[in-house]
Amino acid sequence: MSLAERAARERLLEKARASANACRLCRMGSERRNNVYGEGDPCARLMLVGEGPGETEDLTGRPFVGRSGQLLEKMLGAIGLAREDVYICNTVKCRPTDPGPRGPKNRAPEPAEMANCRPYLDEQIDIIRPTVILALGAPAAKSFLGKDFQITKQRGRWFEGPQGIALMATFHPAYVLRQTGGELEGVKRMVWADLKAVRDKLAEPAPGRVDQPPEQVGLFGEGA
Ligand code: SF4
Repeated sequence: MSLAERAARERLLEKARASANACRLCRMGSERRNNVYGEGDPCARLMLVGEGPGETEDLTGRPFVGRSGQLLEKMLGAIGLAREDVYICNTVKCRPTDPGPRGPKNRAPEPAEMANCRPYLDEQIDIIRPTVILALGAPAAKSFLGKDFQITKQRGRWFEGPQGIALMATFHPAYVLRQTGGELEGVKRMVWADLKAVRDKLAEPAPGRVDQPPEQVGLFGEGA
């Protein structure tokens, strides 16, 4: 990737970020503290798409920070990637909330809100043109693959995503963090299998790309 191409993508992303920041199409656009547009390498081969920002993301304006973000970074490290090597974003750029006794509490984005925000996600995909999209969690996967997608049955499989980009879904880090005991071990095994498949897909020769495949260093103590 030439420096000129990288700079051009950075400019396009900054322009799109400014548009998203000014957007008030949904109610949450006026309620959020920060627009969480996305961040990462504009030339990334791997794009991670989650559901939507939570409280820490809303506070910082950055996707996947806090405990979920730490686990995500560990997951990426297991396939030899740093956070800076990938692009991370969500299906909606503003934090969806409901009123709660101790202030706003997270809620799932409504289909209409995801539809409102989809042009921003599509634009990110157009600009970055990743080799692989990894949807994190069922809502993100459904936004690409339809409402009948079942994460427990269909995670770990390859699908054709936007623009023919290889797309897979795996469990959201927050879901992994909620598991305990034997269920946690099972979920960790499944996520690790999915990550290895992503690593292998990224190692396939890509037309016009000369990137080296990432090294894999292990996740949750499992071997390759
Ligand atoms: S979630 Fe997306 S579409 Fe809705 S207000 Fe925020 S930026 Fe605009």
